Amino acid sequence: MVIFKNVKDIQEYISGKKVAGVRPGFIPTMGALHAGHLSLIAKAREDGMLIICSIFVNPTQFNDKKDFEQYPISVEEDIELLVKAGCDVLFLPSQEEVYPGGQQKAATYDFGYLDTILEGAKRPGHFKGVGQVVARLLEIVQPERLYLGQKDYQQCMVINKLISKMGTDITSVVICPTMREPDGLALSSRNRRLTESQRAVAVTIYQCLVSIESKQKMGSFALVKKECEELLAAKGFDVEYVALANARDLTLLNTYEPGYPMVTLIAARIGEIRLIDNMVLG
Ligand code: AMP
Repeated sequence: MVIFKNVKDIQEYISGKKVAGVRPGFIPTMGALHAGHLSLIAKAREDGMLIICSIFVNPTQFNDKKDFEQYPISVEEDIELLVKAGCDVLFLPSQEEVYPGGQQKAATYDFGYLDTILEGAKRPGHFKGVGQVVARLLEIVQPERLYLGQKDYQQCMVINKLISKMGTDITSVVICPTMREPDGLALSSRNRRLTESQRAVAVTIYQCLVSIESKQKMGSFALVKKECEELLAAKGFDVEYVALANARDLTLLNTYEPGYPMVTLIAARIGEIRLIDNMVLG
């Protein structure tokens, strides 16, 4: 695996590879890698791409300064995992490389409705930051395919919108399924910060998603939502949202709409740790 820290160097390398007919597949991450990240690499490898990963903990997408300061960092271990997973290129830029001249100079995009609900509403400025960093990384790497995890469902929609706004028709998005622990908890870098007792109850989020999916015959979502909120609160969570939405455009729903693609999404805090998860209803 080749590691680049400078924009100029990685661009030269990728251009050379493109001339040789190689197709770049890009997996942006914030590090503290786990099997979820590695599943994106496995998919890119299956697709025969030149696998380019980035590790950059982007300050502009953290609306909570403490969350940024406490975000787990484990670059040495990450490098080992990437080598084992068959990653070809790692981009490990400094803030100055990503935001030359300062963060305030980065281009911003308006995501409209998507930025007013769920993660957008609960984390003001978060998607603006995601848009800034992804736009910049796409500009640098110019991948043919961008691999994202369904774990961040709303983020996938925001990035799709970003790509259409940027007008870069070179990049297509591949969304990969959420990798989970055997009990169902979605893998997340933030899980590392859970205490043993928090870890034990963290699975309740997944159990709520399963329960929401299984109760579609109830018609109304209100009661199911209340049950989940109460269960999560009883387990010690501070619930941010338990939602049901149209899976295509994230219009929020109060009733199950049989025949429409639907997704259920939950965000809740246990202690200081904020967890999110979602499930597309079958
Ligand atoms: P992050 O490092 O959290 O910014 O995540 C980098 C990429 O990995 C994003 O596209 C995430 O959606 C994806 N990802 C994170 N957790 C998982 C998971 N449990 N399963 C699949 N993909 C994931």
